[in-house]
Amino acid sequence: MRLLDCLSKHALFPLNERREGTRILPSLHSLEATQWMPHQQFEDLRFRKLRAILEHAFENTAFYRRRFGEAGITPKDIRDFDDLRLLAPLTKDDLVRHQNELIARNLRPSERHSSTTGGSSGTHTPFYRDNACLNVKMAVEYRCNQWCGWDVGRKVAVLWPAVQDLFDDESWKQKLRYRLVNRRLLLYTGELNEAVMSQLAKRLDRFGPRLIRAFPYALAVLAKYIRDATPYRIRPAGILATGEPLLANHRALFEEVFDCPVFNCYSSRECGHIACECESHDGLHINAECLHVEFQMSNKPVKAGEPGHLLLTDLENYGMPFIRYEIGDMGVPLAGQCGCGRTLPRMGMNAGRDTDFLYSPHNDSLISGTICHDFIADGPDVGQLQIIQDSRDHLTIRIKKGRRDAADDIKKEYLKSVIDQVFHGKMRVTFEAVDTISRAKSGKFRVCINQWLKTSDSQTPTWEPDTGPVLEGTMPENNAVPGRA
Ligand SMILES: [Zn+2]
Repeated sequence: MRLLDCLSKHALFPLNERREGTRILPSLHSLEATQWMPHQQFEDLRFRKLRAILEHAFENTAFYRRRFGEAGITPKDIRDFDDLRLLAPLTKDDLVRHQNELIARNLRPSERHSSTTGGSSGTHTPFYRDNACLNVKMAVEYRCNQWCGWDVGRKVAVLWPAVQDLFDDESWKQKLRYRLVNRRLLLYTGELNEAVMSQLAKRLDRFGPRLIRAFPYALAVLAKYIRDATPYRIRPAGILATGEPLLANHRALFEEVFDCPVFNCYSSRECGHIACECESHDGLHINAECLHVEFQMSNKPVKAGEPGHLLLTDLENYGMPFIRYEIGDMGVPLAGQCGCGRTLPRMGMNAGRDTDFLYSPHNDSLISGTICHDFIADGPDVGQLQIIQDSRDHLTIRIKKGRRDAADDIKKEYLKSVIDQVFHGKMRVTFEAVDTISRAKSGKFRVCINQWLKTSDSQTPTWEPDTGPVLEGTMPENNAVPGRA
């Protein structure tokens, strides 16, 4: 550790905490301890926190007072985590329609911070968090960074495609704080071309980050540029990939170019860092002291190893409680303890949004978009593409126009063969050559969009997880599709 790293960790960061009135370090020290806690002690701690947030929501929000009333219960009737299912989930629609009723009335407006949901469904919904919650969320982020080889005081480069999260109009004080205290370099990767990538590579090389935190699709483009065209030697201790599915070929590319391990991290704007890989790379550890995660299918909890829709209960946000929040993502609960020895439960995380799964007319299964992409990555380089399911048995594949149009037929033939293999010849395909494939407003690149499952003429398939190939492994890179050559 260099002198400035030590100075930042032991002097500048604590001093800044005192000046700003934040309590990130005490929260981090607590999290550093609880991750190793004996299982029963850990569950007792979690349940005490659950009861506290339920009682707070019941006493201080009109929305949850009504929700408990509709269920005919009070928080005292929630005697274990299973009892939580007596309460109806909180939907995105609830956030829009009952926003004021969800804000805790015992917190002064000055103690609340507003943000907006990610907006992958096309809308950005405001929500609130309290000061103490923000401290803990930052500490959770720091703990995940520590798993990747970083520590307080060390440099982190953040490569971000979502322009709304970056601030171009920082004051000199903020810039100085980022340089000396947070030691963070923010780089915008929403638009990449050769000139931009040359600049990004130079800045990364000069900065020498201990950790690179990035959306993987943008980092993949930059990593190829660094590998092929520049003399730079950027050697962080780890890469933390978040915001988009982490594909196996991207992980391999980052390991090759940056010569360091890659960590998959699942986070959301609403609840912060939800789960992250540790050094064992065997599933993602849920930050369960701060968040209770339920996995369910057809309103029933799923067994370990089976995929389910995620419901999140934030154990920290007293400003606007999120209890059984339907975030719209899917994951797999994993059984057993991780080889690292941490008590934190684990989950497998795949392509993300529900609509990122494609419906197969062959056997009513849902196919992870990541599987299609991993298949595609095994063949010729087809460039950027997006798969859209627009009817029960039809996909439109948008392909970004390339310079070597003569190869287009080969690409299409290959893609068609992949689709035939995955969907057992029951899916029709139309190709569409486009100049650009736009990202969602949040900056997320959507691998697959399932328009059809959201339309009124579709029926949600009766999905038996053991009949289809979806999430057979628990991580994107472990997925195996039956029949794969
Ligand atoms: Zn672990």
